[in-house]
Amino acid sequence: MTPINLCPCGSNNSYAACCELIIDGKKIAQTAEELMRSRYSAYVAGQIDYLIATTHSSTRKNHHRKDIENWSKSTKWVGLEIVQATDTMVEFKANFEGENNSIETHHEKSTFVLEGGKWYYVDGKFY
Ligand SMILES: [Zn+2]
Repeated sequence: MTPINLCPCGSNNSYAACCELIIDGKKIAQTAEELMRSRYSAYVAGQIDYLIATTHSSTRKNHHRKDIENWSKSTKWVGLEIVQATDTMVEFKANFEGENNSIETHHEKSTFVLEGGKWYYVDGKFY
C-alpha cells in the first residue's frame, strides 16, 4: 500500500496527525463526525479491522468482512464531503472514481451511537 500523506478525510492535516491516530487507537473520536471521518479514511487505507470494530454490535452481523474488504480495495476514493452533522447523525458524500474516469458519489446519512465512551456506526440511509 502506498503511504498516505494528506489525510483522506479532507481536514488538510497530515494523515499521521489526523485519522491515523484514531484508527491506531491512540486517540478516541470525540464526535460522530470525527468517527465518520476516520471510517472514511479507514476505507481509503484498507483498515478493515477498524471498520468492523467501529460498527455497533447490533448491526455488525450485517457487515461481512469480505464485502468491506472488497469495497475498500476495489474503490478509488477521491474525497469526502460532509453535508450536515448532528450529535448522532452525519450526512456525507464520499466520491470515488467510476467507469471512464467519471466521479461517482456514495451519498449516505449515517446514524451513530455513543456507548461506553466510544462512538459506533449503527446504520445508514442511502441516496
Ligand atoms: Zn482525517
